Amino acid sequence: MDIKTAHVSFDQLISELSTRLINSEPAETYECIEEVIVAIGDYTDADRCYVFEFDDNIEHMTNTHEWVRNGYPAHIADLQAIELKELPWFFKEIKTHHKFIINDINQLPAEASAEKAEFEREQIKSVICIGLVANQHLLGFVGCDMVRQQRQWTPTDIRRLGLVADMIANTLERQRTYAELIHTQRALEKANRLLQAQVAQDGLTGIANRRAFDERINNEIQRAMRHKTPLALLLIDIDHFKPYNDHYGHLQGDQALKSVADAMFHQLQRNTDFIARYGGEEFAAVISATDEQRTKDSIQQLLDAVRNLHMEHEQSEVAPCLTVSIGGYIHTPRANEHIEDLIADMISKADSALYRAKSDGRNRGYLDT
Ligand code: GH3
Ligand code: MG
Ligand code: MG
Repeated sequence: MDIKTAHVSFDQLISELSTRLINSEPAETYECIEEVIVAIGDYTDADRCYVFEFDDNIEHMTNTHEWVRNGYPAHIADLQAIELKELPWFFKEIKTHHKFIINDINQLPAEASAEKAEFEREQIKSVICIGLVANQHLLGFVGCDMVRQQRQWTPTDIRRLGLVADMIANTLERQRTYAELIHTQRALEKANRLLQAQVAQDGLTGIANRRAFDERINNEIQRAMRHKTPLALLLIDIDHFKPYNDHYGHLQGDQALKSVADAMFHQLQRNTDFIARYGGEEFAAVISATDEQRTKDSIQQLLDAVRNLHMEHEQSEVAPCLTVSIGGYIHTPRANEHIEDLIADMISKADSALYRAKSDGRNRGYLDT
């Protein structure tokens, strides 16, 4: 192959690889860069070609890709996370000029003693490195070593390696941007989930709020329609809570609301059960796929759970401690019922049962069917 043909085919190969790199998925990028390194090795007749990447703080460099001519020692394994300050002269050159071109390592200046020792260790006679610069960021470098003999690096060698450096730098930058994008996206998704949870949560008690209740009852009714199973709605209201507030203060009232919510939440353990703060000192529970007896048991357990808190309530006319009254309604939705009307009807029926529980002396629960 004459020199002209070699130039043309190298440029053609680089142009093809460049197109592939542009279109590559981040996962394929690694393979593409490997091929670029092989091409450089083949066409420049070097003994070793490699890519080093700097870490974000530009304190360390790591050999990420390496090609070596058959029979020559590889060094990638011992060139991981090398401190840049171990090679200060090299680093200064590459940072300042984005180039490091040495035809004969014996010509290195005295201040490059660390570099000279490292090149001797790797049996390098000539070396060329070109910085990987994208968006004014120095990401690392691509380089070639001569081990067999010394070499005068030509303008063609420098041009070729420069082309390759640009290509790799842009690819790495794209990959970093992509990684950042993924990171940002994850953070956003997390924030979104948190926000969603907050939107559905009551700020004081930490249980579900009215909005979450509206959504849940809607879903549960649709489910009950499909499965033709009974669904119970309970309304729970704290007894004589106004006098509690007046006597113990609003702050303790808040605390009492939290404790009541907590006790009832832990009582309803089944994952088909749901309790929300419906407003003020009222709560609403949805009990799915249940029956009359089981719902009555749940009502009893909720009444007991609050009583068992033994929260002193001197002003209550019904008990020495804080109590609740519960009104419930159990119903098997029919497929032809209008959901919104049905919800309104269930709430109204549960509310009537609650009203009766209150008038009959509070601290009790009634279930209507
Ligand atoms: P009943 O047994 O008939 O339910 O009597 P009640 O005093 O509980 O009824 P009422 O509806 O008259 O009073 C409800 C009280 O609940 C009024 C208000 O002071 C209190 N309340 C509502 N929301 C909050 C809250 O977020 N924090 C506190 N501390 N009190 C609240
Ligand atoms: Mg009330
Ligand atoms: Mg009340």
